[in-house]
Amino acid sequence: MPARPLLNKVKADPTKWSKKSQRSVAASFTTEYTDIHYRCWHCQAEAIFSAADQKHAFEIKKASIVQRRLLCETCWRKSLHLAAELKEFGTKWDESKLSLKTDEIFLSKWLQLLAEQETYVPYRHDTARKSMLRKLLRIATPCNAADGPKEVF
Ligand SMILES: [Zn+2]
Repeated sequence: MPARPLLNKVKADPTKWSKKSQRSVAASFTTEYTDIHYRCWHCQAEAIFSAADQKHAFEIKKASIVQRRLLCETCWRKSLHLAAELKEFGTKWDESKLSLKTDEIFLSKWLQLLAEQETYVPYRHDTARKSMLRKLLRIATPCNAADGPKEVF
């Protein structure tokens, strides 16, 4: 295995943090960033929030200093893509609720995306929207109902 420095360090400048981060306890003692090793919450791959990435995140992008990474780079990009797709579904829904509420393909694709997103983020699950979609799908697809005779249209 190639030799690597044990700790990768980058000098920190908390005066460049967001206002909120500057008020945190960490602002008084943080003088440098060191690589943070973690396991991706989605795929379990080992990942590194590098010292340089931390400097960029906290000082340039003004991310909250308490923010920690949960996903590896690949999964993080995938989760951003999912979030963008879900936003599109939300916009379409707001624009044409009436026609979409009986659109089985639209509804099931949306529900599938929401479920997929849950495997990437351990918080902010949109349970209200999911139950609404399940309800509408039951109405849109009466043939799939477990009880009652099946009718052919
Ligand atoms: Zn991952």
